[in-house]
Amino acid sequence: MDITELTVHELLGKLKSKELTIKEINEAYAKRIEEKEKDVDAFVTVLTEQALEQAERVPEDAGELAGIPIGIKDNICTKGIKTTCSSRMLENFVSPYDATVMEKINSKGMITLGKMNMDEFAMGGSTEYSYFKKTKNPWDLNRVPGGSSGGSAAAVAANMVPWALGTDTGGSIRQPASLCGVVGLKPTYGLVSRYGVVAFASSLDQVGTFTKDVEDCAILLNVIAGKDERDSTSVDVGEKDYTKALQKDVKGLKIGVPKEFYGEGINPEVKKSLEQAIEKYKEMGAEVEEFSLDIANYALATYYIIACAEASSNLGRFDGIRYTYRAPEAKNLKEIYKKSRSEGFGAEVKRRIILGTYVLSSGYYDAYYKKAQQVRTLVMNEFNKAFEKYDVIITPTSPTVAFKIGEKSNNPMEMYLADICTVSVNIAGLPGISIPCGVDSQGLPIGMQIIGNKFEEEKILKTAYAFEQEINFREKYKPQFKK
Ligand code: GLN
Repeated sequence: MDITELTVHELLGKLKSKELTIKEINEAYAKRIEEKEKDVDAFVTVLTEQALEQAERVPEDAGELAGIPIGIKDNICTKGIKTTCSSRMLENFVSPYDATVMEKINSKGMITLGKMNMDEFAMGGSTEYSYFKKTKNPWDLNRVPGGSSGGSAAAVAANMVPWALGTDTGGSIRQPASLCGVVGLKPTYGLVSRYGVVAFASSLDQVGTFTKDVEDCAILLNVIAGKDERDSTSVDVGEKDYTKALQKDVKGLKIGVPKEFYGEGINPEVKKSLEQAIEKYKEMGAEVEEFSLDIANYALATYYIIACAEASSNLGRFDGIRYTYRAPEAKNLKEIYKKSRSEGFGAEVKRRIILGTYVLSSGYYDAYYKKAQQVRTLVMNEFNKAFEKYDVIITPTSPTVAFKIGEKSNNPMEMYLADICTVSVNIAGLPGISIPCGVDSQGLPIGMQIIGNKFEEEKILKTAYAFEQEINFREKYKPQFKK
């Protein structure tokens, strides 16, 4: 038995029956990281030594998840461990406190195996904009894992961690999950606390999960969801057990298929795979209807205006004075700001700060920022209307399969288009999950996005679970680490 192939719920079963110990599990992962990390480059910080020590000390009577390892995206603050956001600006930053999600992970006795690589400050769609390294896609090492949470996605796909946390502002969980053939959930805005998560665009950011399957997704969501007094946008939805949603029956489920997401720009093989998935749902007894979500065409422009505006404000705190990189040659205060920011931030981050500052400037605020906020309301209204008729909405997650390293990194517009299917979900604050639905002719995974109404995570989990049980993707297809 290869321990690292197992899902977390399978591990839990084997712990219970005493077929496996916490120590064996952590040793298996340490070994796997040793073997695969040199090819995949998914980690900014590897913590296997600490993890193995911690594994020795897990008490017998600790909770169910005690001793289970996890990977954490490097923009989630971890007390005493570096949190770099894959930026030179925070290269040596050690947070004095844990993010709320980390407190929750730690309170279960789970073991952090490492901090995962990402696009700098979560800005990007390929993990090529990390200051430290480019993460590779385990299915084909010449290709990107997607982004910005590419390290988390690739590590789960490569079995270097059994599951991981990421963040999603415009698709950064769902798109890399899709490109790496794993399950990625972006919860409803407000379901998971953002306290201690380095802010990119505060009205869009949300922490979510990367897992091997939908059942693990529900288990991990149970851990991280919940109202937090320290995040005023978090919402109390009461105690929920998301694993209860895992049912195979989708008879009578109403699925909306927005035609705008199947048109121009969507790769024909991706489209075909989605059409087959939709056929499958029909066979399973769901009611499928095509409809128009017209406003989706404006979502990308709206997203990049709002996200950049919020980023320009949020990133103002990195000034070279406090916890960040400081340019060594700066001679006075002004130079400290200027040089530290010039040297500390990468090109994409600077591009966003400049664009964001521009759309917020008094001369252009009405034309761009205000307009974008108005369109945001229209996007929300259209989704509200759709959810009066449908339980869930199904689209591709990404317009293409994993692209080649270097293919889009010098063309921001091309890179932004990678989010065309995911951004409207963040704009409307909805939950969305990506699950693998097939592979293309090159054997690269294709992802299906299932979108739900606010706080209806149960519905998308159920819709995803039923399909996953039908197609058994994980048994049929495995990453090849093609060189
Ligand atoms: N790729 C998108 C961007 O660059 C989304 C990033 C994210 O979700 N963090 O903004």
